[in-house]
Amino acid sequence: MAPRKLAAGNWKMNGDLAALAEIETLAKNHAGAGCDILICPPAVLIHPAQAVAGGVVAIGGQDCHAKSAGAHTGDIAATQLRDAGATHVILGHSERRADHGETDADVNAKAQAAHAAGLIAVICVGETEAQRDAGETLNVIATQLAGSIPAGATAANTVIAYEPVWAIGTGRTPTNDQIAEVHALMRQKLEGAIADAAGTRLLYGGSVKPSNAAEIFAIADVDGALVGGASLKASDFGAIITAL
Ligand code: PGA
Repeated sequence: MAPRKLAAGNWKMNGDLAALAEIETLAKNHAGAGCDILICPPAVLIHPAQAVAGGVVAIGGQDCHAKSAGAHTGDIAATQLRDAGATHVILGHSERRADHGETDADVNAKAQAAHAAGLIAVICVGETEAQRDAGETLNVIATQLAGSIPAGATAANTVIAYEPVWAIGTGRTPTNDQIAEVHALMRQKLEGAIADAAGTRLLYGGSVKPSNAAEIFAIADVDGALVGGASLKASDFGAIITAL
């Protein structure tokens, strides 16, 4: 069965307590939306965000540690995200992979921890511009998927986001055919790696905005979006939710 679509927002290191009004507005305007709605704010905002999300907007983290407790200064356990009210966690975002040296094995271990804590793991993959120019895109995506998806992944506990690194925050997007090609490959590679590959949400991310959302959502095997900049304002993100 085709999965229910998901509009996911990644606030990255943006937002403060005052910005929670945007989540309150989303909750007010989009109750009964035809898709699931998720906002992943900075970790310190998860608990208050959840309090204003009205059960309409799910709240998630942007990373977690692979262990559930211990001497890991500055890190956050999946169980702690869950305790604060998160239901999802983004893992392996290209900014984590680039800025913190996260490998596919790290992402895999974190996803296992997320699943053990009852969180839905939103696992990100994507090629750099150099990899695309070298014709390596499909190999890169296949390798990242094979390494990052843990045993026990299902359509219910895992979402995959395809985010070309060169499209993030740049205003540039792949062509529709390029997105379709990668999403078809991902659907195929999930067979055997995830229980119910057909029902697993495959998000596209990278410069999604109100003006291109409907066109991107019409592409085969695109089950929603992971949105950065355009998720910060309820007006922009609301337009994307409506386009889904
Ligand atoms: P962007 O970011 O929408 O600002 O390009 C997407 C992401 O990094 O998830």
